[in-house]
Amino acid sequence: MGSISFDFDRKVALITGAGSGIGEETAMKFAENGARVMISDLKKDSCEKLLSRINDSGGEAIFFPCDVSDSGQVEALVAQTIAKFGQLDMACNNAGIEGEQGMTALSSEDNFNRVTAINTKGVWLCMKYEIPQLLKSGGGAIVNVSSIAGLIGFPGLAAYVASKHAVAGLSKTAALEYAESNIRVNAVCPGPIMTPMLKRLMETTPGFREQIIAGVPQHRIGSPADVANTILYLCAEQASYINGQCLAVDGGWVAQ
Ligand code: NAP
Repeated sequence: MGSISFDFDRKVALITGAGSGIGEETAMKFAENGARVMISDLKKDSCEKLLSRINDSGGEAIFFPCDVSDSGQVEALVAQTIAKFGQLDMACNNAGIEGEQGMTALSSEDNFNRVTAINTKGVWLCMKYEIPQLLKSGGGAIVNVSSIAGLIGFPGLAAYVASKHAVAGLSKTAALEYAESNIRVNAVCPGPIMTPMLKRLMETTPGFREQIIAGVPQHRIGSPADVANTILYLCAEQASYINGQCLAVDGGWVAQ
């Protein structure tokens, strides 16, 4: 895949769930394109490795651990970003979990609460604390990571599907609320992307990999870079008239 370049020189980007998969690739690409990056996740070890990769390649990044479902921790994450870098220009609210699989009537309340606390409340909390800082910067861009499960239903994943539809709604609403303040809010809706999350789902469901490849019109599983490139584009000046969109990055899945 060819690389796209953007001018994020000295801009500040915050990425949650940066210890793995889509978030890790997004953080790396922000740094490669000149941004100063706050990387956050629950996983200290993998973030510290990412930090070394970014700093070794001449980029600038810091790490702050944060559980996105905890209001105090999200507030501290944004405060730490400002304390270290002095501003915030872009945010990718990416942290998420798939939760347990099970039919609606058989799945647990605990699972529903956990999935929505991280995937939905987490995105809302991040925006709640990020937006005041973007306003102070004179504007900026937020990309929330939803899913094709935020656009269509998936049997066996009710809590996840509900949580990702909610991310689409939160993104559209914040886009309308802050459009006049020069803040754009979009969501990306990835299809199947080869990350630890998808690998876990493939391990628990025999034949899932083959089903996916057969089901995607382009007959391939996407890469974290497919999504990261889209996130960077949506944050860039080149996308300055794209707002309130939920963009599928899915090899054509939801076009069917
Ligand atoms: P991943 O490899 O599992 O990465 C997600 C990261 O988020 C992990 O490092 C995870 O840490 C972290 N995280 C989980 N709960 C958190 C919390 N409460 N606070 C902060 N960080 C937390 O998954 P991915 O595939 O890159 O997923 C990234 C996003 O893309 C998710 O929102 C996911 O729903 C979405 N997505 C993925 C796919 C796909 O096929 N991969 C498709 C559609 C949408 P732990 O590993 O410690 O839990």
